[in-house]
Amino acid sequence: MPNDRRPLIAGNWKMNGQKSDGLSLAEALAQRMKAESDPVFDMVVCPPFTLVADVGNAIADSGIGLGGQDCHTAENGAHTGDISATMLSDIGCGFVIVGHSERRTDHGETDLGVKAKAAAAQAAGLCAIICIGETEAERDAGQTFDVVKTQLSGSVPDGSTAANTVIAYEPVWAIGTGRTPSLEEVQEVHALIREELTKAVGESHANGTRVLYGGSMKPENARELIALEDVDGGLIGGASLKAEDFWAIAQSCV
Ligand code: PEP
Repeated sequence: MPNDRRPLIAGNWKMNGQKSDGLSLAEALAQRMKAESDPVFDMVVCPPFTLVADVGNAIADSGIGLGGQDCHTAENGAHTGDISATMLSDIGCGFVIVGHSERRTDHGETDLGVKAKAAAAQAAGLCAIICIGETEAERDAGQTFDVVKTQLSGSVPDGSTAANTVIAYEPVWAIGTGRTPSLEEVQEVHALIREELTKAVGESHANGTRVLYGGSMKPENARELIALEDVDGGLIGGASLKAEDFWAIAQSCV
């Protein structure tokens, strides 16, 4: 990523971890981050809701950011089981993942709903990490560009800025499978995303917006992925659950 964008390494812990697991992971990362005199990357962890507050305490003063994995579109109210962006902000989050493919599949989330969640996150002062990406069938059918364009224009709120928005390109078929697109395929989708962002939010915000790659990123492939012109870091699932692996991925930015 030979440009001005500061790499972002974000960990999506998904529905994993008892309190003790989450705390040891957070403490191990905080210790490493504190020992880094001048990190050249930003790091964020997105634990399950049950651990957000405790993990927030464990990473306090480390420079590691805190994020939720989802939020409701409303600020509060009769929405049993949901959490609002304002609540996340209130307990120290700076980020929230919205539109992850697992939520799109498990909860039937649509682009319109994801856009409303992203807008709620931005209004609460959070940076929305908006996930998009094609299924394997869509890639095989040659529809990747169309799907990505549709999801992007459907999920990114009007007026989004480089400061309150991160895009995560996550091919659904690469999540948790050990498979990744080729480097050329990743770069061409990221370049397309930046081109489409330019039309949507203007050149300055598009050039400043971090576009992460997600899908089976690990220490072995992180460096070459992050080195791509339009890849500004990663959204990492499985490998974010081991401090050593997550840290090694972050070190690929150095
Ligand atoms: C994810 O779920 O956001 C993800 C990228 O998962 P994994 O790294 O395990 O493929």
